[in-house]
Amino acid sequence: MRQFYEAAAYDPAWPGSHWAGTAPLPAFGPLQGEARAQVAVIGAGYAGLNAALALARGHGMDVAVLEAAQPGWGASGRNGGFCCLGGAKLDDAAVVARHGMQGARDWRAYQRRAITHVAALLEAEEIDARQGPQGEALLAHSPAAFAALQAGAEAEAALHGAAPRLIPAGALAEQGLAGPGFFGAALGAEGFPLDPMRYVQGLAQAVSGAGARIWGQSPVTRLEEVAGGWRLTTPSGSLTAAKVLIAGNGYAPEDLQPWLSGRTLPVFSAILVTRPLTAEERAAQGFTSPLMSYDSRHLLHYFRHLPADSSGGGRFLFGMRGGLSARPKAEAETLARLRKHFEALFPAWRHAQTETAWSGLACLTGSLAPYVGPVPGAPGLFAAFGWHGNGVAAASLGGAEVARLIVGAPTTLPALLTTPPRRFPLPSLRRLALRAAYTAYALRDGPLPR
Ligand SMILES: Cc1cc2nc3c(=O)[nH]c(=O)nc-3n(C[C@H](O)[C@H](O)[C@H](O)COP(=O)(O)OP(=O)(O)OC[C@H]3O[C@@H](n4cnc5c(N)ncnc54)[C@H](O)[C@@H]3O)c2cc1C
Repeated sequence: MRQFYEAAAYDPAWPGSHWAGTAPLPAFGPLQGEARAQVAVIGAGYAGLNAALALARGHGMDVAVLEAAQPGWGASGRNGGFCCLGGAKLDDAAVVARHGMQGARDWRAYQRRAITHVAALLEAEEIDARQGPQGEALLAHSPAAFAALQAGAEAEAALHGAAPRLIPAGALAEQGLAGPGFFGAALGAEGFPLDPMRYVQGLAQAVSGAGARIWGQSPVTRLEEVAGGWRLTTPSGSLTAAKVLIAGNGYAPEDLQPWLSGRTLPVFSAILVTRPLTAEERAAQGFTSPLMSYDSRHLLHYFRHLPADSSGGGRFLFGMRGGLSARPKAEAETLARLRKHFEALFPAWRHAQTETAWSGLACLTGSLAPYVGPVPGAPGLFAAFGWHGNGVAAASLGGAEVARLIVGAPTTLPALLTTPPRRFPLPSLRRLALRAAYTAYALRDGPLPR
């Protein structure tokens, strides 16, 4: 199979995350021999597992999930755990230009519904994954960025009926949001932090409990149309199904299906987690807020305090864009850059060692928006992918919604998600273009605080 990055990025031996130990689940064994199902799902992340759960429990279908490694091995078990708005790389103006005011409102309603969907799922399945209060903080990285947040708040209220609460620079300290690189904030009321691995593994258990089969260590290496459906080949067996959902997102091979090829751009994001910080250490930085937080840079940083451990100290999670290669040297450089940015933004914690650091793949599309729907020209084949930086909520609901499409039930998907993404103009130059975009964005974002 042709992959976008070097083979190491797709190897189950690729380093796992801080979350790997938070929800140990027995491994799912591989598919062996011949099997059949009504629906096959490729990929056991939030999208694939939400679809499998809805299909098996909600619609009584016979479902089988094939996962190259183990449930949650992809982005769903290694992300920052921000269950928040987002999912496209387009601002409101761009969505309005494509789909009108109503299209933009529909897209926002989807994002809100996605958060509610995850919250309800955690409760219904008794998944103990919630990690903090509702809401998020967007921190301005410059005075000009705060002015832009102020200007944007009115437009936000006019379009979506709610504006964020603006906090000027001078009031950041009393909100526990102080730092040398922050010049004001916009507090949003939606979303909540969670343990991503507990969520995805809880989901896998619910899927198994609903009667669906999950096979781990079963990469689909070939997908071909056969009489009555599709045949999925893995190294140790094959599965035939009438319908197939491709939910491999940033990890799906480039040549799994011709229509998909060149329409996605997998991008690395990287995270570090510090050793537990004492209450005094947290206070010394002035950044004590339990809110999920991120800054206004194009190449944004995202960060949050993790819940206190038994010693009373809580670790700090800090993430940003990853590298352009999975080679060991490039990965080491990525993690060193990550640490440098962390120390620049939170200088009082320079002495707090990194306990774990890792990277994983998110997925952009040629249209800068996700897609949930049938694969054009391939009857019975569906896809849900391209959540950009924010798929905890959006991919979860996308999975549940694509299940409705698969059984022919009506959905309330916004036009933004049902418009097939265009192919990147010169797919073979995607990595080069990404390098150029990172350089341009870094210049626009300006220097880190010194
Ligand atoms: C480091 C990082 C931090 C992030 N932080 C956040 C965050 O805080 N909040 C947020 O909303 N989003 C975040 N994201 C994005 C979010 O994690 C993803 O959008 C979301 O998990 C995508 O879910 P998914 O099910 O579509 O894909 P994935 O979780 O990536 O799952 C795809 C699965 O498909 C499997 N697969 C692929 N090809 C095959 C094949 N041929 N055969 C069998 N299996 C296959 C893979 O092994 C993988 O397990 C982050 C992403 C990363 C990488």
